Amino acid sequence: LNVIERTEEARSQLARWCADGKSVGLIPTMGALHAGHLSLAQRSRDECDRTVATIFVNPTQFGPGEDFSRYPRTLDDDLQALGEQGVDLVFVPAQRELYPPGFSTYVEPPDVARELEGQYRPGHFRGVATIVLKLFHILPATAAYFGQKDYQQLAVIRRMTRDLNLPIQIVGCPTVREPDGLAMSSRNRYLSAADRPRALGLWSALQAAAQLFEQGQRDAPAIEQHMIQSLLQHGVDSIDYARVVDAESLMAVSPISGSAVALIAARIGNTRLIDNLILSSQTTTDRGTGDE
Ligand code: AMP
Repeated sequence: LNVIERTEEARSQLARWCADGKSVGLIPTMGALHAGHLSLAQRSRDECDRTVATIFVNPTQFGPGEDFSRYPRTLDDDLQALGEQGVDLVFVPAQRELYPPGFSTYVEPPDVARELEGQYRPGHFRGVATIVLKLFHILPATAAYFGQKDYQQLAVIRRMTRDLNLPIQIVGCPTVREPDGLAMSSRNRYLSAADRPRALGLWSALQAAAQLFEQGQRDAPAIEQHMIQSLLQHGVDSIDYARVVDAESLMAVSPISGSAVALIAARIGNTRLIDNLILSSQTTTDRGTGDE
């Protein structure tokens, strides 16, 4: 496993692979890796000649008062896991490598960034779009792998890639869950023993939504009400949103016609969790369509 901290070194390695005609898969992460991240690496290993992961806790996507300074950092374990997964290169830049003094250029994110997370985390997707575009330039890969766990983020990156003609394929990968259904997340390690069962409220509410949808319910507000009830029954502390929206545009839709997605953001103690589930007439699992 080749661990690189410098931008120019990473770029040279990618250029060598490109000259050799190798396809390259890119997995951007913020570290504190779990089986969800590793599933992206596995997919890339299956589909590409070389796999590059990045570990960088990106300050520009955190708002004031969010968890940037306490975000879990487990670099040694992460590198070991990526090595075992057969990843070829890990780019681990220092903050000043990507944000040198005077840095002041940002990507204005697309419309799909406006609602949901965009409303509760102002500036978040500006930071995400900016760092992802930077990583695409430093590490010009054939394909980049993102989790559907962060459904709106994936939509933002797909839209940015189209809007800015970026020469990279965006691959969406299914959400990996704990055996009881809790979506794997680096932030799950903030949960206390008492928080943990309450965190399952998100998955229960999404399953309740899927069940209603299967029974033929197409009224989005009715499904949203059930999700809220389910979350409250599980004792979540507060709900930022529990919405059912169009799966593509993430705009309000009722009655639901094609595919929709149920999305939740809720707090358990001091921990803010997000999860989602696609509601489609073909399948109500969250095994999405993957790449475009
Ligand atoms: P993060 O380190 O949280 O920024 O996530 C890095 C990548 O891993 C993103 O594309 C996430 O969507 C993806 N990811 C995070 N959790 C999961 C999960 N439980 N299943 C699948 N992908 C995930």
